[in-house]
Amino acid sequence: MTELNDQALLRYSRHILLPEIDIAGQQRLSRARALIVGAGGLGSPVALYLASAGVGRISIADDDVVELSNLQRQIVHDSGSLGRLKAESAADRMRGINPEVAVTALTRRLGLAELEQLAASHDLVLDCSDNFATRHAVNRACVAAGTPLVSGAAVRFSGQLAVFDPRDAASPCYHCLFPDEGEAGDGPCATFGVLSPLVGVIGSLQAVEAVKLLAGIAPRVGWLTLYDGLAGEFRQIKVPRDPGCGVCAAR
Ligand SMILES: [Zn+2]
Repeated sequence: MTELNDQALLRYSRHILLPEIDIAGQQRLSRARALIVGAGGLGSPVALYLASAGVGRISIADDDVVELSNLQRQIVHDSGSLGRLKAESAADRMRGINPEVAVTALTRRLGLAELEQLAASHDLVLDCSDNFATRHAVNRACVAAGTPLVSGAAVRFSGQLAVFDPRDAASPCYHCLFPDEGEAGDGPCATFGVLSPLVGVIGSLQAVEAVKLLAGIAPRVGWLTLYDGLAGEFRQIKVPRDPGCGVCAAR
């Protein structure tokens, strides 16, 4: 069992005060391995909070570089990061916040085979990507590896969040929810625009579910949370598992 030294007890004291986390939960976090797919708008708050919360090993994957138009919402990067690889820029910021966390920057585009290996070697995957093709590939990898997935998406003024856990027989997967693998209705922020703090709301909700799950608190599996920032409204929809799902039916 990982022991927390005096510095760690102080750093994480506001977590340890929470009876649901306590020292045992913080130790679980320090032993946990999380993979963040995407170091953009959603990945920014996820990366900052997972590092500050003390998730022991974090891999962050993105093959893109920081551009000026990213800085309106991708708050893990700053003006000094322009032109740098996003994964490396994010990793440096995470190490700056918490040197006790081991951060790995993955700067290449991940194929399905590598995603499956990574899903198998991490306790949790956070999908912070911005397109359907990546979301479906990440989902397939998580179902194949039996690794929980915290999925987020945000565009214009609206966003969504869902937790899928292949270890739970009742849990749907991303494909149960969105069986169409086409690009319809989806698109990067470059096409449709996105409100700056909207990605902060959804990314922070992803971080809440991730820290809970890794600390040993049961996440809310099988619900889709919808946030309409324009109306200022949250909605939740129960998502059943699809017994005919092309990805998870055979699990
Ligand atoms: Zn499914």
